[in-house]
Amino acid sequence: MEERIIIKNGRCMTMDERQTADWIVIEGERILAVGDGDGWQEFAQGIHRLIDGQQRTVLPGFIDSHFHMVITGLAENFVNLEGARNFRSIGRSIKAARAKKKGELIVAKFLDATRLEEKRLPDRTVLDRYCNDAPVAVYSADYHVLILNTYGILYFKVPFTLDGVDLDEKGMPTGIFTNQAGSRLDTLIFNSFSDEDIDEAVSSTMDKMLGCGITTIAAMEGGNMNFVFGQDKQCEFIYQHGKKYPIDMELFYQTTNVDYVMEKGLKRLGGNLYLDGTMGARTAALSFDYADAPGCRGLFCIDENYLKEVVCRCYEKNLQVALDAIGDRAIELALDAFELAISKFGRKDHRSRIEHAELITEVQMKRAADLGVILSMTPAYEGIWGEKGGMYEQRLGGHYGRSNQFRQIFDSGIIVCGGSDSDITDPNPMVGIHDAVNHPVCCHRVSLEEALRMYTIHGAYALFKEHEIGSLTPGKLADVIILEQDIAKLLPDRLKTVKTAVTIKRGKVMVEG
Ligand SMILES: [Zn+2]
Repeated sequence: MEERIIIKNGRCMTMDERQTADWIVIEGERILAVGDGDGWQEFAQGIHRLIDGQQRTVLPGFIDSHFHMVITGLAENFVNLEGARNFRSIGRSIKAARAKKKGELIVAKFLDATRLEEKRLPDRTVLDRYCNDAPVAVYSADYHVLILNTYGILYFKVPFTLDGVDLDEKGMPTGIFTNQAGSRLDTLIFNSFSDEDIDEAVSSTMDKMLGCGITTIAAMEGGNMNFVFGQDKQCEFIYQHGKKYPIDMELFYQTTNVDYVMEKGLKRLGGNLYLDGTMGARTAALSFDYADAPGCRGLFCIDENYLKEVVCRCYEKNLQVALDAIGDRAIELALDAFELAISKFGRKDHRSRIEHAELITEVQMKRAADLGVILSMTPAYEGIWGEKGGMYEQRLGGHYGRSNQFRQIFDSGIIVCGGSDSDITDPNPMVGIHDAVNHPVCCHRVSLEEALRMYTIHGAYALFKEHEIGSLTPGKLADVIILEQDIAKLLPDRLKTVKTAVTIKRGKVMVEG
């Protein structure tokens, strides 16, 4: 007999038709049985372990539907500017890093200009004050803006003719890079890490992820906008090495080269195929002007006809495709492309995805539901940007309150799954679940059960893995977690404080708190 583990006395939320159960029996790497009362006793002979659930919530392992694995790993070692409120505090952090690194590249993350006293981005002259003898690269909170010091500009040799090089009145670069130029720099920066660096970074992130109950991720690798090429270093790393880590990684290869993905035997492409930019950088494509930048409506990062061609090729070859679209104008473009592909190649089980879809309108929800398009959304954005006076309101003005309308999305019949976009938001799924249940705009809130579905069975469906994972159903893989409390009894505004006590991956106890 294979090893058996029984969890008794739990508050199991099974996320299938059964809904609840008191106990679960695991045999080998699969779930053998689920039931109520004392029924577990008939499986108890010769068991390996009996875990007392102590009336705490038992769930299928969390699935993070949008996780940047390589960046999350590497960024653990970046300078964190989350708390910076003025240029001086940025300078202090950079100086401290310089003292440790001595001439090496310094990368900093999470700069939020809306929270700075100066109310603008620092430029190269500001960064030069704190470090002028090593390259410094500072990323904005959404990784869509990059600032270099003068040393960094010379070091990376970015051609000033590229789109996205900000110039001053004398025609000199200010050090602020976006779009094409930002992407080129991303590639240069991330390619400067070796496979050993990446392996070390990813390995050291595993415990933290398992510790918050994540057992599967959609690995969105290769996050830059130069995606027309076949190969990407981060994608290749996960393709080659992803299987050796304890968390299952479903690779979304960022490329538009359909043949290349087919040759590799992958069933999907995209994930980071950017149709537009972000609201933070005012590059998300809106159908109205940004409230804090009249005349500006964001931009498309891809040619419309080229996008349609790629999506049609994916449908022709039965590949799943995931497009990254934030503004309503970009979402419209994604829906147009899916609609065209269906009209040409017929409706099959494509499970096309739109990543983030922050500003989907009610009319677009209806279209997405009709086309069977999945939305892969990021509830924790509301936690960091959605409050009154926050970034969303600054950018949207009178349109504030239209972001991440989870309630309406569920009601329109769309399958919506949840991801952290780590490391842009906290990878802990309980944070995303909290923000979906406690959306700052009350009418967009969903129930706890619905929020949990986003991170379990809907996440599985969005990966074509609903027969293997996503619910506590006999026969499925034993990816099971026990939380530290019974969350059904908790006040909703306490959800994000709940920790994971036990994580079981494929029948193996990986974490026990
Ligand atoms: Zn992302």
